[in-house]
Amino acid sequence: MDFDIYEEVYKCSKCGLCQSVCPIYLATKNEMYLSRGRYIVLNNAYNYNKKLSSKFIKNLDLCLNCNLCKNFCPSNIDAKEIFTLLKFQNKYKYGFLSFSIIFFLILLTYKIRRKNIFVKRERIQAKNLKKENIIYFQGCINKYVNPSDKNATLNILGKLGYRVVKTSSLCCGLPYLSDGDLKSFQHNSNKIIDSVSSDIKYIVCSCDSCYETLEKIPELKEKIIRLDDILKLNNIELASNTSYVYHKPLIRNDECYLPSEIKILNKKGNCSLMENFLLLKHRKLADKLFKDVFYKQQDIENKTIITSCLLSKFGLEYLIKKMKTNTKVYSYSEYIYCDSIRKDNIYN
Ligand code: SF4
Ligand code: SF4
Repeated sequence: MDFDIYEEVYKCSKCGLCQSVCPIYLATKNEMYLSRGRYIVLNNAYNYNKKLSSKFIKNLDLCLNCNLCKNFCPSNIDAKEIFTLLKFQNKYKYGFLSFSIIFFLILLTYKIRRKNIFVKRERIQAKNLKKENIIYFQGCINKYVNPSDKNATLNILGKLGYRVVKTSSLCCGLPYLSDGDLKSFQHNSNKIIDSVSSDIKYIVCSCDSCYETLEKIPELKEKIIRLDDILKLNNIELASNTSYVYHKPLIRNDECYLPSEIKILNKKGNCSLMENFLLLKHRKLADKLFKDVFYKQQDIENKTIITSCLLSKFGLEYLIKKMKTNTKVYSYSEYIYCDSIRKDNIYN
């Protein structure tokens, strides 16, 4: 990573604007969990040649990596990049086991528990295949927990006429970034790069978190694309629909391709607390954030929510269970496959 932390944090004018957007600060009112508070500590450490305490490094985990503070910051300081690099330089440890191992164990448990409930849908292929070869990057949530999104995406891509030469089973590397384990991230990225031959036009993601992570790999940047961008590229008109609302993940800066009738729950974006796996790492704080900062019961009660991030889907399902509300959550692909263009455009 070609990035100078000292130069970045030096840019902080201490204006405090980040206070108004940082979800963790809003829930805790603790300056030490805010970018400004951390930058002050870092500045001192660099100026006086002091070592950072292990508590400071551990507390970097209490950040969603959402970069809302960066988007709001007059100096455009990249909190996410700084905190990841700090974890790496200071050999951050989540606990006895690294968090990435714990994350994969959780997913594996889910897979074993939910193994039999998914029925593979028949794959539909268009008669006239387009020339373009693509890879579908399913991501770990699809692989272990939510294969219906994968089946829906493959159906949509097939029906659009793409030649899906491979469904990648590799991890995008987000759990490694969350650990600050840049070595494993690079190793994982090399495996992904090696799996992409030169004839591949696109690597399609149906999860915004996977897309965001893969975008960091310069060798893949030109090929990575999200499913909703593929629909836009193919000029697919989406059927109007007012019965859904959209959960915009915090990590997504641009608009997801949706019919204009679909209401966005919060245009700035909301968090399912899975962006930096906070829901898995710090359950109490996650519950407080859900209650005080993100969704209120009435926001989501009896609604059908669509989200373009599978980690968000995972987090929202937890929230719904906790609130005991009659709410359903679909991924973007599941929604498209079942309810929108199926009858109108692609599936005619
Ligand atoms: S908004 Fe940016 S410049 Fe202002 S205090 Fe926060 S990090 Fe510093
Ligand atoms: S990245 Fe998000 S959670 Fe972390 S300090 Fe910035 S606004 Fe707060």
